Amino acid sequence: MTDARLLIVGPQGSGKGTQGVRIARELGIPAVSTGDVFRAAVADGSELGQQVQSVIEAGDLVSDELTSAVVRDRLSQSDAEGGFLLDGYPRNISQVAHLDEFLEGRGETLDAVIELSVPRDESISRLSLRAREQGRTDDTEEVIANRLAIYERETAPILGVYHTRGIVDEIDGVGSLDEITDRILAALEARGLFGPAAA
Ligand code: AMP
Repeated sequence: MTDARLLIVGPQGSGKGTQGVRIARELGIPAVSTGDVFRAAVADGSELGQQVQSVIEAGDLVSDELTSAVVRDRLSQSDAEGGFLLDGYPRNISQVAHLDEFLEGRGETLDAVIELSVPRDESISRLSLRAREQGRTDDTEEVIANRLAIYERETAPILGVYHTRGIVDEIDGVGSLDEITDRILAALEARGLFGPAAA
């Protein structure tokens, strides 16, 4: 398979975590979710977890230094040598610069950025459902509003940077899980990152 270095970007409640795992499995690359790494650290009560717990519970962003260090460590593991799918990172312009620098040092570049678009009402109702089902501490109404505002203010602008590089595939995030996965795989196939051309 062709190496694939991918990002999946979308507002909270767009389903990017679920789709990220599915796509990574299809391509045989690790899915790296910074949110999952932080939540696991909080659950373990590790030093990292203690550093980030209050920030996550408020729905604010963990510092760029700490987050970028976590990502560098994870991408330096051997299973990420042949590609990876990042979910939840980069989340602002400064993290884009960190990631560029890190990849440049390894002679690598990003191949595609999957933008999952979902109307605001739909993402809010999915998040409220998840709050009831999973009881995530950052899925309360007030914290959701904060996270969506941060997305619009800090994260959405990163797509402009990647658009100028011609690597963004905008995917309609409304539909069944399988339909959305198929749309993403078709976009990756068109880039030669999936399917017969990538074998
Ligand atoms: P997520 O599951 O991606 O919504 O992430 C959950 C929380 O983890 C976020 O609300 C932030 O507090 C933190 N987090 C995850 N990724 C990042 C990142 N790239 N930069 C800063 N904070 C992050």
